[in-house]
Amino acid sequence: MKSENTVWHAQSVSRQMREQQKGQRGKVLWYTGLSGSGKSTIANAVDIRLHELGKHSYLLDGDNVRHGLNGDLGFDDAARIENIRRVAEVAKLFVDAGLIVSTAFISPFCSDREYARDLIGAADFIEVFIDTPFEICEQRDPKGLYQKARSGEISNFTGISSPYEAPTTPDIHIQTNELSVEQATAEIVAQLRFEKI
Ligand code: ADP
Repeated sequence: MKSENTVWHAQSVSRQMREQQKGQRGKVLWYTGLSGSGKSTIANAVDIRLHELGKHSYLLDGDNVRHGLNGDLGFDDAARIENIRRVAEVAKLFVDAGLIVSTAFISPFCSDREYARDLIGAADFIEVFIDTPFEICEQRDPKGLYQKARSGEISNFTGISSPYEAPTTPDIHIQTNELSVEQATAEIVAQLRFEKI
């Protein structure tokens, strides 16, 4: 139910003040790709690197968020849209806090990624396409999910019984059949501009 009688309170500590304190600009690295493509692995490696560089960062990982905040959501289209809407809202709060936030969710629908880009603001939104061929993801099957989807144990599985709409113009395009995790990490960090503020 939509809440009524709520007003937006202006906050005295602004985003700019938080960013100045941290010496960085808040932004979102929005990872997208098939299950098993390498989103969590690469986003985690990038997050480690950012931490080593003294950056203030946070990682929102699909599976972890589905345990808590989005634990009530399933995988039909409506639930996937709500999953991404909540993640985009949380990412926006973290950007407001001046953090570099990575989100690792399949986020299969173009319209949802566009929604996130619009909500967060294009200037602070970096779409990272972890582009791994379907056959390789299925071969890797790190969580045994493809096998379960093939046997019908899981329905609405992206790439098998639910669509994946690949980005056409991602900001960063990583092909994991050509790059190691280390190379992918270096490539992403190199493309992040750490503007002075
Ligand atoms: P996702 O988060 O996209 O579902 P995961 O990161 O959980 O994917 O799983 C990807 C799997 O692929 C991991 O087991 C990882 O070790 C493996 N892998 C092999 N080569 C690569 C690579 N070049 N980049 C990313 N992951 C890779």
